[in-house]
Amino acid sequence: MKADAFAHLPSNARVIIKPNIVVWLDAPYPKYGVVTTSAVVEETVKLLMAYGINDIAIAEGSLQVDPQGQPIGEKSFEGLGYKKLQQRYGVKLWDVWERPFQKVEVAEGIRLRVNEDLMTADYLVNLPVLKTHAQVKISLGLKNLKGFLDVASRKKCHSADTEKDLAFMIARLTKLLPPSATIIDGIYTLERGPSIDGAPRRSDIVIASSSVVAADMTGAAVLGYDPADIPYLMQACQMAGFTTDGAGIEVVGRTVKEVAAYHQYAFPYNQDGTRPLAFEKMGMEGIKFHKYDSTLCTYCSPLIGMLQTIIALSYQDKPFDDVEFLSGKRQKPSDDMKKSILVGQCMCKLNKDHEGPQEIVKISGCPPKPEEAAEALKSIGIEIPPSLLTDFNTAAGFFMKRFEGQTEFDDAFFTIS
Ligand code: SF4
Repeated sequence: MKADAFAHLPSNARVIIKPNIVVWLDAPYPKYGVVTTSAVVEETVKLLMAYGINDIAIAEGSLQVDPQGQPIGEKSFEGLGYKKLQQRYGVKLWDVWERPFQKVEVAEGIRLRVNEDLMTADYLVNLPVLKTHAQVKISLGLKNLKGFLDVASRKKCHSADTEKDLAFMIARLTKLLPPSATIIDGIYTLERGPSIDGAPRRSDIVIASSSVVAADMTGAAVLGYDPADIPYLMQACQMAGFTTDGAGIEVVGRTVKEVAAYHQYAFPYNQDGTRPLAFEKMGMEGIKFHKYDSTLCTYCSPLIGMLQTIIALSYQDKPFDDVEFLSGKRQKPSDDMKKSILVGQCMCKLNKDHEGPQEIVKISGCPPKPEEAAEALKSIGIEIPPSLLTDFNTAAGFFMKRFEGQTEFDDAFFTIS
């Protein structure tokens, strides 16, 4: 019995491998459960070659934390050892940002700009990580396909439209797929993903299927989620002809029950979603930090996390003066607050004509400007240097420290010897 993930692999196919690199930083940072292990990437290349495949490219479009800076693809490929795969096996390395895009209609009237290499490949090997996601609960094979889109299309996926929302868009990404295999790398799994501030575990699981939906359904169950509770997976199931109870998916190898372990997807919020539960537990008064929704995209998410952390660390048992933070593309100031802080260009634009009793403080730009974020914090009595909000290498060091001396977190998985 085998999963037969390469069941639809054509002979002499031009194959693209899509790992999940998410982000690349100059300083050492925790890749466990965040980035696909190089071990799985190398084994995939070897396996494809054993099937007689010689035309192999690895493609990824990682987050540019500084959109004006140098593309990071080259550095990440070097850092993860992929250059050795290039030398040894002739694998091509493609940074999606430096490759052409083409427009593809994924639903009536909705066009996305998609990496042209994917659209012309014969076959895709999708290598996501077995991780949770703060907005959509799990981020596996379907979500990994977003890495083939250009920036504007990624933002478009986080639409304010309540029907054609992020779930709708992720489910439609299946329309981009050539025949494919999905191999979910669960050597490390991640709670409160998808990035370096999450909590990884060593889990030693690999899930493989020739159907991305079957792989994601199984991955969801392994992370402790009912696929019926994940809107994009429910829609993808309907499109692929599966039922959300997993009937029709045969699991071989170890059973889901044997390996399943609940992974929390986000820090919990209070019941009405007005602030993180941690703020309540600390006894914070006079502040709302509304729960981000699916309209928030990549460039605002890290800032939201940092603002919450800074507020929590700076809190000194003194109530705030009725201040709230708003983010994404839908939220509106509440009239019972004296100050509304709008995070990001979309919030500022949505509420530009707002007339209300409260003071409006804007953190404009996309990505939001760190100087304005520091000013906004100052206006509520918290003084920080703006560089604290942009110095990702310092943040990386802080998150990396947690793993010192823990031998199950082994960086050798992210190199190729
Ligand atoms: S400002 Fe924020 S929510 Fe708006 S497009 Fe940029 S990252 Fe997305």
